[in-house]
Amino acid sequence: TISTAAALPVLTKLQLDCATPLPVLRHIADAMAADMRAGLAVDGGSDLKMILSYVDCLPTGNERGLFYALDLGGTNFRVLRTQLGGRDDRVIATEFEQVSIPQELMSGTSEELFDFIASALANFVKKEGGKFVLPNGRSRETGFTFSFPVKQTSIDSGILIKWTKGFSVSGTPGKDIVACLNEAMGRQGLDMRVSALVNDTVATLAGARYWDNDVLVAVILGTGTNACYVESVDAIPKLQGHKSSSGKTIINTEWGAFSNGLPLTVYDRAMDAESINPGEQLFEKTISGMYLGEIVRRVLVRMAETGSLFGKHIPQKLQTPFALGTPNISSMQQDTSEDLEAVGSILYEVTGVDSNLDARRMVVDVCDTIAKRGGRLAGAGIVGILQKMEEDSKGVVFGRRTVVAMDGGLYEHYPQYKRYLKEAVAELLGPELSSHVVIEHSKDGSGIGAALLAATNSIYE
Ligand code: ADP
Repeated sequence: TISTAAALPVLTKLQLDCATPLPVLRHIADAMAADMRAGLAVDGGSDLKMILSYVDCLPTGNERGLFYALDLGGTNFRVLRTQLGGRDDRVIATEFEQVSIPQELMSGTSEELFDFIASALANFVKKEGGKFVLPNGRSRETGFTFSFPVKQTSIDSGILIKWTKGFSVSGTPGKDIVACLNEAMGRQGLDMRVSALVNDTVATLAGARYWDNDVLVAVILGTGTNACYVESVDAIPKLQGHKSSSGKTIINTEWGAFSNGLPLTVYDRAMDAESINPGEQLFEKTISGMYLGEIVRRVLVRMAETGSLFGKHIPQKLQTPFALGTPNISSMQQDTSEDLEAVGSILYEVTGVDSNLDARRMVVDVCDTIAKRGGRLAGAGIVGILQKMEEDSKGVVFGRRTVVAMDGGLYEHYPQYKRYLKEAVAELLGPELSSHVVIEHSKDGSGIGAALLAATNSIYE
């Protein structure tokens, strides 16, 4: 027998523990601003690393010429070329290709991996033609988006700290990855140089800024999460000897590591304890796509155990970590049918449980609770960044139109999450200030963003 009554207290407690009323959001925004400041003061001064990107100039729209971009951040890498036509013609043409990295190369040697990448890039370059033209006497230039932890040393160099996301390639940690790539391109006889090494958030900011001069912040909400923003060089005490012609530089916050004052539940704590990085990336574990479905699954297990929500038997599938994905909980929330048929079939197919209408309603409430907390906390984080910028120079953010560029599968495909995020921003800022803040989806800006940064950092300009 299915009994929803006994599961009700679990839901009520969850909603209580996940609540994000205005004072909680305000605390998160204030703490985010304070942690940013502490991370800018001294390396290791806060949960937030506040990494210098060495990107001091953003695209203006005047860029011209042929530029490439290379994006390595997971099991696929993407290569792209774009022909830029300056102020009037803008992007004349773009082409890209995606190549998947063979499993064995992810645990091979550095040379093997970079040779594979350089050779795929060389093949792509061979197909250059049509609207793509390289002026005589010039080498090709590329931006390199590399989404692994790097200690950046200049705009075109950075030391790999460690591989993550299933990569364990020998010989690269401690080395300059741009040098690794340049050497491999040399071995392939490819005439190309890396002009800009960038993080994907920074590339997204650059890509959005190309179209809109008011973009000051970029946020990624996908499998993981991160944010970057435009900072004044004067506001970075830890920056010593770095000169910026514009007086500005992009800071990569690595905000996934934020932890101050998060409303966490027993489910979050258990998930964190069993994770590969306990105690780390707590903001990311509360708001990003990799984890929302898993938190919901853990709540459903508890409801099944204590409340027989799905009957006596608890299927193995429901007990399997990460069996329920964030796309699943998002799909369940889109079900507007009277009998919640889609919810029922997703629950059955993904977790193996049978459900009646009451149980389905309760599951949707759980999904909503977790998405609401995630979206609202992400919104509070964004306000924290804006607040920090405004505190340093009055009017820089709130006295004018300011755009926050958003990207990532979670933000793009989970409408409720997106709505909760925007609501939290509006609640925190109030009607007057929030009317100047535009939160805008910048789809796949990061690919072209890296090519644009190759252009702004070209050796020929
Ligand atoms: P990544 O962050 O892995 O580079 P994406 O930005 O495309 O790539 O984000 C993918 C993530 O987005 C997935 O891991 C998932 O968590 C989330 N996602 C994808 N589709 C949906 C969806 N329909 N609803 C909610 N979240 C989704």
